[in-house]
Amino acid sequence: MSSSSVVISGAGVAGLAAAWWLGRAGWHVTLVERATDLRSGGYMMSLSGPGHTAAARMGLLAKLEPRAYHVHENVYRDRNGREVMRLHFQEFIEGLDYLVMRRTDLIEVLRADLPGQVELRYGTTIRDVTDGADQARVTFSDGTTATADLVLLADGMRSALRERLIAPASQCLKPLGYRFAVYELTDRLGLGADFVSYTEPGHIAEYYTLAEGRVAALHVWHSSAAGPVAAADRWGLLEEVCARSNPAVRTQLTAARSEGAVVLVDDLALVELQRWSKGRVLALGDAAHCLTLISGQGAGMALTSAAILADALSRAPIPQALAEHEARLRPSILRLQDRSRKMAGVFVPRSPVAFELRNFFMRHVPRKWVGRYFINAVTAEILAAQGPAAKVG
Ligand SMILES: Cc1cc2nc3c(=O)[nH]c(=O)nc-3n(C[C@H](O)[C@H](O)[C@H](O)COP(=O)(O)OP(=O)(O)OC[C@H]3O[C@@H](n4cnc5c(N)ncnc54)[C@H](O)[C@@H]3O)c2cc1C
Repeated sequence: MSSSSVVISGAGVAGLAAAWWLGRAGWHVTLVERATDLRSGGYMMSLSGPGHTAAARMGLLAKLEPRAYHVHENVYRDRNGREVMRLHFQEFIEGLDYLVMRRTDLIEVLRADLPGQVELRYGTTIRDVTDGADQARVTFSDGTTATADLVLLADGMRSALRERLIAPASQCLKPLGYRFAVYELTDRLGLGADFVSYTEPGHIAEYYTLAEGRVAALHVWHSSAAGPVAAADRWGLLEEVCARSNPAVRTQLTAARSEGAVVLVDDLALVELQRWSKGRVLALGDAAHCLTLISGQGAGMALTSAAILADALSRAPIPQALAEHEARLRPSILRLQDRSRKMAGVFVPRSPVAFELRNFFMRHVPRKWVGRYFINAVTAEILAAQGPAAKVG
């Protein structure tokens, strides 16, 4: 058992998974989270490939499976509400290790399974880190201090500490020309157990059925503007984006706003760092290598990364372990980022012509082909994520 200490900034998937592994290896773990609880950011995501394998290694599948969603039918509509395609994706993914869940549920399962000695401090951030020869000195927002052998920046795509300690955002944040918004609301679409998508040139609005009459909404749209959107401006921006959308989309938006739903708006942006670590400070998860929802696998790679890091730290001193972690994970990350960049061009058709072509194709293509296309896309995503990373343990 180790007697080393680590301070982790951010209790998202990456921070919690690192705390899980290092806590079990006997490290003294201090995990600080800026938010006052872990309930925000409730969007839908899938876990497959190495991420699914990593969750299995952590013994979490039995806790995740009861929270997974099994969509009955996926229904695709155009701006006028006309049905373009209706599919049973469940049939296609039969036999694949593939879980669809809310990010919030993955977070809750990870948090509940943390070893007892992990100290999780909500409403706290790291104010400063001074890296020394033997240890780093960390000052927290409440004025308390700690020394640590390792400091992990797992505080997401817009990590402010990465900005100060590793590289400025101007050098590493690469927007892909889209923004996204996510929120949850009461189901007024009568979705039952279905998923529905409304698409128009340049904008897609999707609604995933949840338990207890709730729906998770996702909007993705082309945007030449990039950068954080203040909470007070988010609904207004969405109103503009949806101004010409199907009435069902606009009704959902108005309803969500009047329910007081929490909306997250951000860019689809890659994080590209030359090196993920500097001295005793390592960026982890989206802070190191955000992949975006276009390639998928971001949460999966955060789980995988934590497992690789713990494995490397169990066998080598910190500098060598950080180098090994990066060498093992980086090839998969580069493949997934390449996938995001390539797919960004066609992710949401922008011109009316491209949009009509897409609808024509979806209406007329044999369903068997669509199934094959979907399986190929999922398999390509999984293969991109695989590599030495997949062979941990
Ligand atoms: C809409 C959407 C769909 C997605 N779909 C998938 C999918 O299907 N499959 C998949 O694998 N991945 C998917 N992803 C990507 C995946 O969700 C992310 O890659 C993953 O959650 C990143 O985890 P993280 O812990 O690195 O960062 P985050 O989830 O961003 O967590 C960062 C944490 O740090 C906290 N924090 C921020 N700043 C500070 C600070 N200064 N001090 C302390 N704490 C701080 C935040 O509050 C947060 O809790 C999707 C992402 C989105 C947005």
